[in-house]
Formats: sequence, C-alpha cells, structure tokens
Amino acid sequence: MEIHSLPIHRIHDLLESRQIGAVETVSAFLERISAIDPGLNAYISTFGEKAIEEAKLFDSGARDYSASPLAGTPIAIKDVICMQGTLTTCASRMLQGFVSPYDATVTEKLRRAGAIFIGKTNLDEFAMGSSTENSAFAKTRNPWDIERVPGGSSGGSAAAVAAGLCAGSLGTDTGGSIRQPSSFCGVVGLKPTYGRVSRFGLVAFASSLDQIGPITRDVEDAAILLQAVAGFDPADSTSVDLPVPDYRAALNQSLQGLRLGIPREYFIEGTHPEVETAVRNAIDTCRRLGARIVDISLPHTEYGIAAYYIIAPAEASSNLARYDGVKYGHRAQNGADLLDMYRKSRSEGFGWEVKRRIMIGTYVLSAGYYDAYYRKASQVRTLIRRDFLEAFEKCDAILAPVSPIPAFKIGEKSDDPLQMYLSDVFTLPASLAGIPGISVPCGFTSENLPIGLQILGPHFQEELVLRIAHQFEQNTAFHLRSPEVKG
Ligand code: GLN
Repeated sequence: MEIHSLPIHRIHDLLESRQIGAVETVSAFLERISAIDPGLNAYISTFGEKAIEEAKLFDSGARDYSASPLAGTPIAIKDVICMQGTLTTCASRMLQGFVSPYDATVTEKLRRAGAIFIGKTNLDEFAMGSSTENSAFAKTRNPWDIERVPGGSSGGSAAAVAAGLCAGSLGTDTGGSIRQPSSFCGVVGLKPTYGRVSRFGLVAFASSLDQIGPITRDVEDAAILLQAVAGFDPADSTSVDLPVPDYRAALNQSLQGLRLGIPREYFIEGTHPEVETAVRNAIDTCRRLGARIVDISLPHTEYGIAAYYIIAPAEASSNLARYDGVKYGHRAQNGADLLDMYRKSRSEGFGWEVKRRIMIGTYVLSAGYYDAYYRKASQVRTLIRRDFLEAFEKCDAILAPVSPIPAFKIGEKSDDPLQMYLSDVFTLPASLAGIPGISVPCGFTSENLPIGLQILGPHFQEELVLRIAHQFEQNTAFHLRSPEVKG
C-alpha cells in the first residue's frame, strides 16, 4: 500500500519503526499534491520547504516520534484557523494576503504533538456554505467525481483526506461543515461538543456554534487528532474545564447493551432512497453487533433550519463588522470619505453569500425585529436542545443520515440559497444543541458516491460516539475504498 492511502496511526508506526523516513513521507504527499491538486483545488496554500525542513529534524534524530501518535505525520488545516507566519485567508478576498501573527491554540497543540503542517485547505468563504463553491479563489472538486462538490464548508479538508493529499486534517463545524463534507467525500469527520476544543485563533463565524474538529481516514485517527486538540484553554472562555479522556482507550469496547435511538424525523420524504437504504443497513449492522435499537422522536427537528439561519447570520453580522478596511481586512483604494471607504472595502472584500448573511443577520437583530426573529429563534434552539436531552433518557446515542442527499453537481444549488440551506437539515440540530456528532462511511450510491452515517451523543461523550463509529467501521469495509484520482 502506498503511504498516501494510509491512516495517521499506520504512518506513525512505519515512521517510528524506521520503515519509512519523514522526508520520504512528506515528499510523497507533496508530490501527490503537485500532481493532483491542480484538478481538485483542495488547498489554498502549501508549505513544501518548511514541511521538508521539519521532516529532516525527525530523520536526523533531532526530534523523536514518541511526542505523540501524530509526530512526523503531514496534517492540513482549514484556512480559517490561524497559524503563525502563514496566510489565513478564510477563502475571502477580504483577508487575501493576511499573515497570522500568532498560532491558534489547536495549531500550537498540534505543533507540540509533532505534526508536520503541509498546507491550508479551501472552504466556503468564512465557512458559510455547504459546497465550497463560495470560496473566493477556486471551487474544490469531489475526488469521487470531479463534476460534484465535496460538500462544505470544510470541503478542502475533506477532499484532501479522501484524495490522499494529507494524512489527516482539521475542519470546523458551525452547522455541519465537518460532518457533511466528510460524508460527501467518504471520510470520517467529528464535530466535538461545543466547548471541548478551544476556538482561540479560529476566525469567528457564529461564536455560539463554531467548533474545530478532525477529518480523517478512519475513526482511530479521529480519536488521535481530537486527543491532541481537546481541552480547556484559558484563552477561550467558552472552552470547558473538564478532564480529557483517553479517546482511543474505549474504541474496542463492543456495542453490546448500548441503546441506539433512531429519530423518526430524520427519515423523511425527500431523502435520497440510496441514502436511506445505506443508513437503514447501518442500523441493522449495529443491531447485529449487539446494540438495542429504539425508536425516538426529536419533535422540533423541522424548525432547525429556520432557527439556525437566523442565529448563525445574526452572530456572523456582528463578528464580520470588524472587517472595515481599517482595523482588519481589505481596504478599497478610492474612497471619497471614510464612509465611502468602508462601503467600498466591504463591497469589494466580501462575496455574495457573506453579504447575504450580513444582511439577514443585521435585519433579524434590528430594533423591532429582534423579538420576532432572533429571540424566537433562540427559544426554538432551547426546544431543540431539550429534544436531545429527553431523547438521551431513552437511548445512549442516536443514529441518522448526515445529509439527505449524496454529493450534488457543481452549480446545481449555487443559484438557489434556500435549496442549499435545506440540505443542512440533519446536521443543524446537533449544532444548535451543542452535542458531538460524527460522520462515518456507511455506503455508496449506484454512482459510486459515498454516504455517511451520523452518530450523535450526549454533551462531552465523544468517547462513546467514537466507539460506536469505530465498531461500525471495523465491521464494515466502506472506509477502505479510495477514489481513483488522476493527476
Ligand atoms: N452550511 C451551513 C452554513 O452555511 C454550515 C456551515 C458551517 O458549519 N460552517 O452556514
């Protein structure tokens, strides 16, 4: 097997036992990026020379592999996360050329764990979107079918893992942006509990929802990456001061005795029949593995889209106010006066979807509309959260589809924002509730497009979510398939 198709834990074993060298490993990925990425656009920037320099330290013995299971492995980071001395563009013209003066907490932690950063990945501008078509620079293509989207907003991170252009990556999830692209690209993606991972150094989209998490080739790798980035951070007051368990320790426990809930609201008309079949088969597999399957209801599911698409834009409009061409971001050259300069800077710097969110957000927060929209949406959010808390009295975890549809064609939904928003129906509720969720490969359509199974757990029970995903994965073979991507 070639290095680029191996998971992090296998690469690390080979490195540690000196069966492969770190420079050899990093070069293999860099060569593959040069050959294949021009056709995929998974990356916004890559760090060839720097990565090779770091790899040399491992080969010479100046650094050793015992630092962590990530030591010496090439990792990609979504370009919305700061990394000192590198470009952080958020796929926006607004931040084109911006060099981070500091590391995000997650980048610093990965650095200390010995990960080798190989590049920054493409996304929907400021993480707003479900297809990566909203990048100001290039549309990322799905490695399984280059006519299709990789999902979004972490489409670059998911496509890079699927195509073997990095060993693993970090994405961010505000309403599905880790889980949905992972399902579209046939890889594993975990959104941790809100508060589990520090957001310090993550460029904010919707601060009460944003979380950073791993996108990897298998579940064990997701546990390894989460282990490295999880934990309390005094620099992020929303990170929670709870001990971080050993995420790999529980992976091998069976599903025997677990109660897995199937929410009836997640099996609705409009779901692609092959998606439904794959998820139902996955549920049967879990039953065979010893789980008890129970029917549950999450009655406020249908209000998730409306609530999310008020709350997220409201927070975005406030977070994005800082890009005025003075404090932050692109500055237009020919402003007649200060106001005109602000207006021109923001008009030139932001793309259409970002502008749409700012307008919706400003509207729902404005005097007279706040109660009708923002306050109401916040109340609905509480009801959605309660749905989950009540469901977790009847079951230990929940199984559902990630997305009602597999990867769609590039351009198919980009002119119809509502259709795009509707496709988030199964990922938004968990984000609003703040609970952890994973996407794990559970099938393919007749057109060979990957399908993801979503596993949701109670707050801070990533361990359980990972264990169920791992047990499912190890008893199926979907994660072993790779797309055939040609350079
Ligand atoms: N698709 C959702 C949106 O456009 C979620 C994006 C995300 O999770 N960053 O807002």
